[in-house]
Amino acid sequence: MEILQPDTWAEALEAKAAHAEAKPIAGGTDVMVELNFDHIRPPQMLDLTRIRELTEWAPENGRLRIGAGVPYTRLIAELGDRLPGLAIASRTVGSPQIRNRGTVGGNLGTSSPAGDALPPLFADDAEVELVSVRGARRLSVHDFVTGPKRNCMEPDELISAFFVAPAEGPQQFAKIGTRNAMVIAVCSLGLSLFPEQHRVTACIGSAGPMPIRATEAEGFIAGVLDEHGLWESRGALPVAALTRFSELVELAARPIDDVRGTAAYRHHALRVLGRRTLAWAWTEYRA
Ligand SMILES: Cc1cc2nc3c(=O)[nH]c(=O)nc-3n(C[C@H](O)[C@H](O)[C@H](O)COP(=O)(O)OP(=O)(O)OC[C@H]3O[C@@H](n4cnc5c(N)ncnc54)[C@H](O)[C@@H]3O)c2cc1C
Repeated sequence: MEILQPDTWAEALEAKAAHAEAKPIAGGTDVMVELNFDHIRPPQMLDLTRIRELTEWAPENGRLRIGAGVPYTRLIAELGDRLPGLAIASRTVGSPQIRNRGTVGGNLGTSSPAGDALPPLFADDAEVELVSVRGARRLSVHDFVTGPKRNCMEPDELISAFFVAPAEGPQQFAKIGTRNAMVIAVCSLGLSLFPEQHRVTACIGSAGPMPIRATEAEGFIAGVLDEHGLWESRGALPVAALTRFSELVELAARPIDDVRGTAAYRHHALRVLGRRTLAWAWTEYRA
C-alpha cells in the first residue's frame, strides 16, 4: 500500500485529486480498525497529520472555524468554555489515548450514527467545509450526513473544517453505554438552550440511521417557555412539560435492535435522557 504524506494543504488536495481512492487518515482511530479487520484495502493512504491548517481553530464572523484535525483533547481544553456540549461529548469518546488522536473531522468522515460529536453538531446547526482542487463548499451538517456511515463528500474532496457558533446558553450531552468508558453509545442526546432566540434544540444519537433532531419536542418546549415567560423569569419548568418533552424525544427516535441494545431499551433510555438533559440545562440557566 502506498502512503502519501503531503506537507501542505495544497499538496493534500492535489494528491486526493490524483488518487480518488486514497483513504484519508487523521487520528487513524477508525481507519486503523477498518484496516486491521480487512474491511478496507485502499491502494493509497493519504496521511493528513502533517497539514498544520487542519489543526488550527479561530473565531470567524461570529462563529468558530475549527480545523478537521483538531483532536478531542485540545477541543476539550481549548474550546470547552465556548462549546460545552461538544466538549461533554468529546470527554465520553474512547479513552485518553483515543481522545489524543481522534478528531471531529474523523467522526464526520466516518458519519456513524453512533459518532458522539454528531448530536452536538446537529443540535447547533454546524456547517462542514469541503475542499477540493475545484474549490470549496460549505454545507449544513444535516446535508453532509446522508445515511448510516454515508456522507456527500465527493471522491476528490477533503474536510477542511467545521463551523459552529459559540454557545448562547447551557448545553448538555448524555450517553448510555454498557459501561462508563471506552464504549460506543447505545443511544445519546445532545441539547442546547438558546436564551436570546428563545429556542431549545435536541438531537438524538445512535437511535436511527443518522442523528435525528427531535423537532416536535423542540417546538413543544419552546412554546411552554414562551407561554410562561420562563426565559425572562428563569422560573422552574412545569413537571408536566418536562415529562411531555421527554416523551416527544422518545417518539422522534427510530432505533433498531442490535448487539448494543434493543429498540425498546433505546426508547426507554431516550425518554430518561430527554428529561435529564433538559433538567440539567435549565437548572444551569436558572443559576
Ligand atoms: C477503542 C476505540 C474507542 C472509540 N470510542 C469512540 C466513542 O466513544 N465515540 C465515538 O464517537 N467514536 C469512538 N471511536 C471511533 C473514533 O475514535 C472516532 O470516530 C474519531 O472521531 C475518529 O477520528 P480520527 O481522527 O481517528 O479518524 P480517522 O480514523 O483518521 O478517519 C475516520 C474517517 O474519516 C475520514 N477522514 C478523516 N479526516 C478526514 C478529512 N480531513 N477529510 C476527509 N476525510 C477524512 C477517513 O478517511 C475515515 O473514513 C473509538 C475508536 C476506538 C478504536
